[in-house]
Formats: sequence, structure tokens, C-alpha cells
Amino acid sequence: MSWEVVIGLEVHVQMNTATKAFCGCSTEFGAEPNTQTCPVCLGMPGQLPILNIEAVQKAVLTGLAIHATINLESKFDRKNYFYPDLPKGYQITQLPVPIVEHGYLDIPSGDGEKRLGITRIHMEDDAGKSMHEGLDGISHIDLNRAGVPLMEIVSEPDMRSADEAIAYLKQLHQLVLFLDVSDANMEKGQFRCDANVSVHHPGTPFGTRAELKNMNSFRFIKQAIDYEVGRQIELIEDGGKVALESRLFDSAKGETRSMRSKEEANDYRYFPEPDLPPLRISQEEVNAIKAGMPELPGQLRKRFETEYGLSVYDADVLTQTRELAAWYESLAAAHPADPKRCANWLANELLGRLNEADCGITDSPVSPESLASLLDRIADNTISGKIAKDVLDTMLETGHDTDTVIEEKGLKQVSDTGVIDAMIQQVLEANPDQLAAFRGGKDKLFGFFVGQVMKVSRGKANPGLVNQRLKVLLKS
Ligand code: ADP
Ligand code: ZN
Ligand code: MG
Repeated sequence: MSWEVVIGLEVHVQMNTATKAFCGCSTEFGAEPNTQTCPVCLGMPGQLPILNIEAVQKAVLTGLAIHATINLESKFDRKNYFYPDLPKGYQITQLPVPIVEHGYLDIPSGDGEKRLGITRIHMEDDAGKSMHEGLDGISHIDLNRAGVPLMEIVSEPDMRSADEAIAYLKQLHQLVLFLDVSDANMEKGQFRCDANVSVHHPGTPFGTRAELKNMNSFRFIKQAIDYEVGRQIELIEDGGKVALESRLFDSAKGETRSMRSKEEANDYRYFPEPDLPPLRISQEEVNAIKAGMPELPGQLRKRFETEYGLSVYDADVLTQTRELAAWYESLAAAHPADPKRCANWLANELLGRLNEADCGITDSPVSPESLASLLDRIADNTISGKIAKDVLDTMLETGHDTDTVIEEKGLKQVSDTGVIDAMIQQVLEANPDQLAAFRGGKDKLFGFFVGQVMKVSRGKANPGLVNQRLKVLLKS
């Protein structure tokens, strides 16, 4: 009997609002510990929360982008638990009535797409951070993060493999970046995921799920799910039963291990948050947010295909981030003659070199206009495509512009017939045997002569002209 894998994901997305969810403290990452706190986020008695409208707008925008229902009235609840990084003793969240429900995301699947349901998005506030490392065995607590607004995005159990789960996560990650609702830096914990995993035989009810907690790398999430699927199948086949529990992924060992049995809603003694009234937004406000929605990755990809004639692959590569897509559009505007050449040089040449230097596109020492002028010099035959790659290297090293580098290095393509003829003569004299063979009918040697002339010119001869002149001079 075959096994089917069932996965549902809960993703915590830290919103990039200027201030925290319920107070005016800054959310800036990396400040001195405990310098961005106030009586509200420290949980002092008698302090009242005030909801941050920016967080509401970002949650609504995300909801609209996943085609969901926006609840014009939603409610806040208290989820009570004790933990040292949670000074209030409870988290403010939304249980029965979240701000967003019933959405979906389409992911690429085979030749088409697969629609994955999103159950809900609710708003909540983050906890602080416990720090244990490098502190002489003493644990410290940093409450700068306490009260930073989160969206929890809960999917339906619609994924059937680790690969589908990763495709969904990557798409969601790209989406929140495009919407600019989160900086979504996974290493900084701004986009983290719990994966619920079960196995069953198709046609039978779903199996019991294990919840793999708090992972923040695509690679680890995939490893954790794959390991967990294997563990559950083996367990069941050996006559055991999967326990409803939370598990932790140990990336060093590549395995998951039990953390605690799964808590239930009533363990948290949820109750309506008495300090916040129901959250009401008007349809007009929702419409205004909708009107300000930026172009989404899928739309942008399609536009790149039609407007610039790019392949699906190139369009996909160049729309991975908003910054990269904007960079490409500046380049294509500055070198309008050949958008395809722009795509190749950006995706293959420039990005490759920047990646090696661990440099992002926004920090590129070569600007779109500067790369465009390099492409202009290829187009007008000043330099060959091959030499242009060396010029690009030098531009990246020195920050000099195209024409300066070509001038400084004496790289101008040789398109003077007299000079090329002289080089050809030199090659013919140096290779009398090949010349005799060619004239005796060995046509294939033509390429050999082209190669030799290019070599003599150190790559600078105009290849079209070399071909043309060789055809004449080899015959005479
Ligand atoms: P909790 O916070 O208790 O984990 P949620 O409702 O927030 O509960 O999240 C449950 C998650 O588990 C959802 O993403 C849901 O799709 C997923 N899920 C539910 N049942 C299964 C199952 N049998 N196998 C895998 N995932 C499941
Ligand atoms: Zn505060
Ligand atoms: Mg869960």
C-alpha cells in the first residue's frame, strides 16, 4: 500500500512597521538589547495597548494579495502562557475571528499550477528573545522584539510533498517582499515556519500530525519534513502510532526529536482581550489599500515575457525581487535596442559576478546605465562580446565606465581592413601546410584560420570582417 504525505504550514511573518504592534517603540533590528522597550511592551500593570494602524494595513494588503476575505470586524484574544521572554504573561493574538480568512496561493506544478488553500491570517505580537550563547552560562533576555507585530499565515493541509511545501514557502516569501509588508530575512527570524506533517494511505482519513517547530531556512525545512515522513512511515509499519506532538529539528544531526506533547487551545486559557475593542475597518479603507497594491510577482513575470519578449525562464529569474526587476527595467530603458541581450548580460554575466563577490544588485558598482553603454559598444562593434566580459570585470574592479576601460586597455575592436589583411597574411605565411591543404579542398580548415587570426589580434579583430576577408584572401 502506498503512503501519501500531508503537510500544512504555519508561517510567522514579522511585519516591517516602523513601530511595535501596540506601543510606539521602534522595531529597528540590531539595537542594544532592551533599549527599545516601554511600559506597554514590558507588560507593566495598568498600561494600555494602542493598535498600530500600519500593521492592520499590511495584514489587509497581504490578505488581498492571496484573494482572501477581509473581515471588516475582527477580534483580539489573549493567549496565556509563562515564558521568560514574555513579560506580559500572554500574547495578544486573534483566535475565533482573524482579520483574514479563506485565501489561496497558486504554485507551479508540472506543466500547470496547483492551488493551495490558506485558512487564515491573524495578527499577533512577538515575544522577546532569550540569549544563551557566549554569556558565561548565564541566560540573558532582550525585549526589543517583544511586541513587534507578526502575521501568522496558516495554510490548509494541502501540500503532498516537501517540494510542494518549499515551493509554497518560496512563493509566500517572495510575495511578502513584493508587498513590502516584511523584510522577511530568514536568518534574522523575520520569516519562520512550523510544518505540520502526517502520512496516510490515499482514500483513508488523514493521519495524526506532528508539528515541526520554528524553522527558518528552506533547506532545513525540507530536510526536517523528509526525515519526519520517513520516521512516521517506519513507526506505523512497525506497528506504532504517531503521537500528536511538537518536535524540534536538530540540523546538526538531521533529525527531528520530540519536544512536548501538542498543547491544545484550552491549555492557553484563551479569552477576549479586554483592553482592545473589536477591530473595525470600512470597505472604503479596504478598497484604498487594494488601489495601492503593487504589481505582484506573477503579473510582473508575464509583463516581462510580453513587453520585452523574454523567455519564461529569464522572466522568472529577473523578477525574483523587486529591486532586480527594477534594475532590469532601467537597463532595458537605457539599451532599448535589445531587451534580450540586456536579460542575458544581467542574469548571466553581472549577477554571476556579483554573487561570487557576495554583493546584492542594489550594491552593484556597475549601474544599469553603465552596463547599457557596454552593450552599446558590443552593438556598434567597438568591442566583441568576449572582450566585453573582460571590460565588465575591470568595470566592477575599478568602478570606471565602459569607454574609459576600453580606452585605458586599448581594447577597441579592430575593424580596419588593411590591419586585418596584414594579420591574415602573417597567419598564412606561418601555416603553409594548412594553407596548401585548404586550397587542396579541406574546407574545414577555414575555422582554423579564423581562430589563428583572432589569436594574433588578441581577440580584438572584428570577427565578421575576419571571416569576410579570409574568404577573399584564402582563395587568391
Ligand atoms: P495549532 O496552532 O494547534 O497547530 P492551527 O490550526 O494553527 O493549529 O494549525 C494547524 C496546521 O496543521 C494547519 O496548517 C493545518 O493545515 C495543519 N494540519 C491539520 N491537520 C493536519 C494533518 N492531518 N496533517 C498535516 N497537517 C495538518
Ligand atoms: Zn514599547
Ligand atoms: Mg501549530
